[in-house]
Amino acid sequence: MTHQDERTILLTGGMIFDGAGQPPFAGDVLVVGNRIEAVVAASESWRPPEHATRIELAGRTVMPGLVEGHAHLSFTGAADLMDLARMPVEENLIAAICNAAILLDHGFTSLVSAAASKPRLDVAVRNAIEAGQIIGPRMLAASQEITPTGNLGDLDQLHFPIPEGARFAYVCDGPDAFRLAARRFAREGVDILKVNISGDRDWGYMGADANATLIDDDELEALVKVAHGRGRRVAGHATSASSVKMCVRHGVDIIYHAALADAEALDMVESVKDSVFVAPAVGLPYALLHESEKYRLDLGPQARRGLEEELEITARNMQELHRRGVRIVPGGDYGLACTPQGRNARDLELFVTLFGFSPAESLVAATSHGGAMMGRGHELGQLRAGWLADLIVVDGNPLEDIALLQDRERIDLVMKDGRIYRDELGGGSRADSRLLDKTAAR
Ligand SMILES: [Zn+2]
Repeated sequence: MTHQDERTILLTGGMIFDGAGQPPFAGDVLVVGNRIEAVVAASESWRPPEHATRIELAGRTVMPGLVEGHAHLSFTGAADLMDLARMPVEENLIAAICNAAILLDHGFTSLVSAAASKPRLDVAVRNAIEAGQIIGPRMLAASQEITPTGNLGDLDQLHFPIPEGARFAYVCDGPDAFRLAARRFAREGVDILKVNISGDRDWGYMGADANATLIDDDELEALVKVAHGRGRRVAGHATSASSVKMCVRHGVDIIYHAALADAEALDMVESVKDSVFVAPAVGLPYALLHESEKYRLDLGPQARRGLEEELEITARNMQELHRRGVRIVPGGDYGLACTPQGRNARDLELFVTLFGFSPAESLVAATSHGGAMMGRGHELGQLRAGWLADLIVVDGNPLEDIALLQDRERIDLVMKDGRIYRDELGGGSRADSRLLDKTAAR
């Protein structure tokens, strides 16, 4: 009897979707340690190592792990950002730790954070995951939302100022203050500086709706200069057309939303398509429009019309950017009241139904482009020899039914960095499932 090596794993007898965009094919994937050693089509003859642990995949598809492009691990389902601000850091940290496990358990092996609710939450969770203390996806940690006074995230009122250190967002004004914000968050160890350049749909009462651009060129320029000088990246909340242009002018690396981009903004984004990533975060407006009753959110007719219009323009813009070859990554602001954590794969379906992606294009966006968005386009997001062993096994064929990915019961196996975290095929026997038992039911 040969000794089975649990760090050498052969996934055999299923279909392979490699994330590069070619049609799925039958074959084997061999993992050694934390890397993919070989991807072999069934038509080729080969002898896999006898000591490998064999996992039989009949009727299943193995594909790269999913990447969430707009995550908020520290958001806890609050309907009101003030509820998040009020939550003590201890409880907020525990929630973020659980959310990391939930995302991994749903097939997301990487995430790009789009802001934390408190200064160091993302950093602490990322570090603990990397140290193996807790389980979760690979993670780019973000700052809080950095915003000028009177914009999305600024919850202060003149008669009721929130003490510094208790704020949901980091509020600052003027290039010096943005420079200081960037330096402070860099000091705390973030990978990404999140900056709110435009307003958002609920902030019109302070003159900061989605059409408004709230920060000045010199403010964004100062922040980007510090970030890039220190090898950090900048992600901009940019719904208005002029905020999208501002992102391109100043070299913002990740453009979130781009919902109301006009023709000039689309041209400008296209001109930097080899370096920029766009993530529309469409899951939230979609859920607000179609599921607000389910989550008992009171939405008036005017808000509904606004959302319908926003979704229509967003869809047109994403179709256009996609046609021009801009890399668009799913990620939908999960973690708010109507976007529960774990529901994230719904955005892959919305790419198909709203933006006209083919299922294969949507999967490539969530895997190959996601890996590039993680800054690891040379080793993450595809099933290729030598690349990192982040993969999932889906019961069925997600190219025929992309909604399969939303059903956790159909995610039979989750592997990150060569380690198995979810294992329905071996009855859980191979899985490193610390935390998962307690979070799975949520
Ligand atoms: Zn967000």
